[in-house]
Amino acid sequence: MDYNSPVLRDNWGSDSSRGHYKMTLPAEIQKIIKELGNAGYEGYAVGGCVRDLVLSEVEGLPIKPKDWDIATNAKPEEIQKVFPDSFYANKFGTVTVKTDSADNILREIQITPYRIEAKYTDKRHPEEVKFVSKLDDDLSRRDFTINALATADGKLIVDLFGGQTDLKEKIIRTVGKPGDRFGEDALRLLRAVRFAAALDFSIEEKTLNAIGENAELLRAISKERIRDEFLKIVESDKAYEGMLMLHETGLLKFIVPELEDGIGVGQNLHHIYTVWEHNLLALKYAADKKYSTEVRLASLFHDIGKPQTKRGEGKYSTFYGHDVVGARITARILERLRFSKEQAEIIIKFVRYHLFYYNVGEVTESSVRRLLANVGPENIENLIKVREADRIGSGRPKAVPYKLRHLKYIIDKVSHDPISAKMLKVNGEDVMKELGIPPGPKVGLILNSLLSEILEDPAKNTDEYLRNGIRKLDKKSPEELKRALEKIEQAVDAEEKERMKKYYV
Ligand code: ATP
Ligand code: MG
Repeated sequence: MDYNSPVLRDNWGSDSSRGHYKMTLPAEIQKIIKELGNAGYEGYAVGGCVRDLVLSEVEGLPIKPKDWDIATNAKPEEIQKVFPDSFYANKFGTVTVKTDSADNILREIQITPYRIEAKYTDKRHPEEVKFVSKLDDDLSRRDFTINALATADGKLIVDLFGGQTDLKEKIIRTVGKPGDRFGEDALRLLRAVRFAAALDFSIEEKTLNAIGENAELLRAISKERIRDEFLKIVESDKAYEGMLMLHETGLLKFIVPELEDGIGVGQNLHHIYTVWEHNLLALKYAADKKYSTEVRLASLFHDIGKPQTKRGEGKYSTFYGHDVVGARITARILERLRFSKEQAEIIIKFVRYHLFYYNVGEVTESSVRRLLANVGPENIENLIKVREADRIGSGRPKAVPYKLRHLKYIIDKVSHDPISAKMLKVNGEDVMKELGIPPGPKVGLILNSLLSEILEDPAKNTDEYLRNGIRKLDKKSPEELKRALEKIEQAVDAEEKERMKKYYV
């Protein structure tokens, strides 16, 4: 590719089957570009939003721009003059304009002056940004050809580096010499893999080779930036392929080297895959199922403690304690990558408790209560998903649906308050006060009678109704009151049958 070739303002111009695009920019974007124009400035939608617009409107992929960026030859102060309701709080000169759009992502639009990044000394951030007057210069500093497109109207695309062809052919290719571009900003190494995974593209050969050659530069990148890109890979549909790419390019060593300790570590007779393959396949299943970030990461890390705990070889090797050790390793990884404490805690718990029992004979109400207390009732469903990913990722899933239904049935059972007089808005004290009687069996009989009524009609569980009821029940004989107990037993039975029906147990 000749980067000095004349500007290709419309790559499809000679291709009559495509002709000009008929993409529509959102009204809010059109308006901003028009207002910039009225004030004598250029304005272009640029970068990721144009890429995503072409992918959705021309290539027909189910993709939507996540944010809209506009580039202009106006300087920050000039932008602010055109848009009085804007704010400027960013060292790159970005001015944010507020709109009253109904669409969340269009409510704040970023307008950035054309700029180039002056010097890169630390492989991390540009030393300083320099505003420039030409769009072409701004496009040249962008990372990949598919991210270096601009359009002012959705019809004509400014494409200096063949980005449209690469979009069509699903290729990630750097703008300019890959080695130089990765040398300037090593985060681009990871961004290449991220876009390949998120868009299901392949990485062009020279770009791919340069990633391998420059992988070590990732050391200079802040953990937060690495985490964000790593997360986008894990959250993509192609998370599995993304992880393989990270490994093959040598990047994974600088992100989660612990995973690579599982390479070549064989398992026992229950497994056909190595620890590395199995962790990755568990992630694949979680991604295929579009499970949450926490479930995906826990699936990826669930057996990360196995290489350290392996005893013996072959069919009968063991991995005692790999859940505990794995949780510890996971905690270290997540701390290193600066995950939030809350998110880390959940993922660590999933790794720690992924071995929970669900054999019908072994599941007792108290063991389930312990599990709920350990992982938190709100996380139990996701823990079960991690186990599901583990099972399917083993390549030899054993049939468990009945065991799982049984476990869920016990979880439901122990998660619900038992039917008892505690459900009432009044208690024994209230009965004694209302009737002026001392403690004794009569208090309990009256509470049970009230409970039997409430079970039939929960709306009656009010202070007023129950106090009235206490006085009425005072007049009944103990025999009459005892009959309420039968009704309560029937209600407990009915609830149990309902639950058994729900879980088919
Ligand atoms: P996303 O869909 O995740 O928002 P994006 O391509 O819009 O993807 P952003 O991080 O929002 O990515 O960046 C917007 C644009 O800025 C990119 O499309 C690219 O043109 C440019 N860009 C971002 N990061 C870099 C970088 N590290 N080096 C060069 N150009 C970059
Ligand atoms: Mg973006």
